[in-house]
Amino acid sequence: MINKKKFTERIFDPNQLSGLDEDHYIQLPVDFIHDLSKAASLQDLLDKIAFWISHVFDADRVSITLQENEEYLKLYSISGNQAIPIDFKIPIKQTFVGRTFATAKLIICDDLSQSDELDCQMLTQHGMGTCMDAPMIHNDICIGTLNVADERKYYYSEQQAILLQCLANWLAMNIKLHLQFQEMEVLASTDELTGAFNRRVFIQESNQTMLQFFKSNIPFSIGILDIDHFKTLNDCYGHKAGDYVLKLMSEHIQKVLRANDFLARIGGEEFAIILPACLSTEAVQVFKRILATIEMMQIHYDDNIICFTVSIGVAEVKKHDADIEGVFKRADKALYRAKKLGRNQIYLAE
Ligand code: GH3
Ligand code: MG
Ligand code: MG
Repeated sequence: MINKKKFTERIFDPNQLSGLDEDHYIQLPVDFIHDLSKAASLQDLLDKIAFWISHVFDADRVSITLQENEEYLKLYSISGNQAIPIDFKIPIKQTFVGRTFATAKLIICDDLSQSDELDCQMLTQHGMGTCMDAPMIHNDICIGTLNVADERKYYYSEQQAILLQCLANWLAMNIKLHLQFQEMEVLASTDELTGAFNRRVFIQESNQTMLQFFKSNIPFSIGILDIDHFKTLNDCYGHKAGDYVLKLMSEHIQKVLRANDFLARIGGEEFAIILPACLSTEAVQVFKRILATIEMMQIHYDDNIICFTVSIGVAEVKKHDADIEGVFKRADKALYRAKKLGRNQIYLAE
């Protein structure tokens, strides 16, 4: 029996792809290099790469995938034919591009219509005839793939494979830099224990929200939440149990909030919540839900079931507020009142 793959597919080890014609030179547009150094974010960088690779290869389609997790690649950027939608999670196991990634080999599929792999079928349905996928390798680790496709079958040469692999590895270094920068930004803005934003980002975000208010006049509300008798909780169950409570409570609050709401841990057991485009009457409803959710929590830790409550001070921005400090101070005073009035309650600032 004839193995179709032998005639429709060529596989190259990246280490063996060297030696371009024309004295081993690569000619690239100057603006390609300029654009790479100007990229403002990872997405911007990937979009610029996709655009320029389609130019360099005169390709009908270029796409870039990066590893999402053990099972999937994510399609980050496309230039040209949209056979596979952006953000599509591509299974590593059942796809051509997944095989390129998993084996870290450059593969050319000379006739897409002969392949039974999911992505090849999608490309065929959208008029593509051939594709060439290169692994993007940095420090011997494959971080994703760079893919070109053309409507014509049997289109790509070995010389083009050498060029694509060389560019894929060079671009992998640029992408890795942006990925590391992104990771650092997340680390610098997140509270390690709870995963909520930290105090530094809260100050930035609240100032930003205030500026937005000056521009749009759309009101917002702030809540400051503090766990009641947390010192006693620590004393009874231990500091680790206290940490666990902070983490779980943060997760529960997050579930009540909308996507645009903002939760930050601004002190030991104190959290701030910004509710954009929200009057105090609506804010009180949201905080009532949070209060009730927390009151119902039963946290199993060691052999204990831990229950606890919180107090919340709420303030809405007012026309006369010159900066965020005023709003914050009113919410803080309201929190103090909630504590004084017996805890486990919300107090709305006048
Ligand atoms: P109140 O109802 O008046 O807010 O009483 P409280 O005990 O919650 O307040 P207090 O300010 O007296 O104590 C806060 C406690 O929070 C003391 C501190 O040890 C604890 N705490 C602060 N940060 C952390 C943390 O990261 N983990 C744990 N487990 N405890 C923390
Ligand atoms: Mg407290
Ligand atoms: Mg406190």
